[in-house]
Amino acid sequence: MPTLFEKIIAREIPADIVYEDDRCIAFRDIAPKAPTHVLVVPKKALTSVDDVTAADAPLVGHLFVVAAHIAAQEGLTNGYRTVFNTGRDAGQTVDHLHLHVLGGRPLAWPPG
Ligand code: 5GP
Repeated sequence: MPTLFEKIIAREIPADIVYEDDRCIAFRDIAPKAPTHVLVVPKKALTSVDDVTAADAPLVGHLFVVAAHIAAQEGLTNGYRTVFNTGRDAGQTVDHLHLHVLGGRPLAWPPG
């Protein structure tokens, strides 16, 4: 059963895509929690950080390189937050690894 994000990667459901390459895709969150809220999603179907192995380290590093590129593209010069939610207690709702990029306003810390 493909995840929602696999369907976005396959263009089976629409999304506001802001970046794509051979390893990942980035699109705007449908329910943004900040003025900029982009999800950076690997094309490899990993469920969460729990699923990441040493072999995936270059891919996960690449997600952060893309996150920084998107932050610059979005003009987030005052800072931004990158977040992987893992599991239910962290609020993960889509079981396909994704890096949140949030910015455009001051973000509270610690998170709720
Ligand atoms: P999580 O809660 O798993 O860390 O993050 C999943 C994110 O996916 C949520 O912020 C949610 O708003 C977003 N989301 C859920 N369904 C869709 C969708 O159909 N399209 C887009 N662009 N984002 C979605």
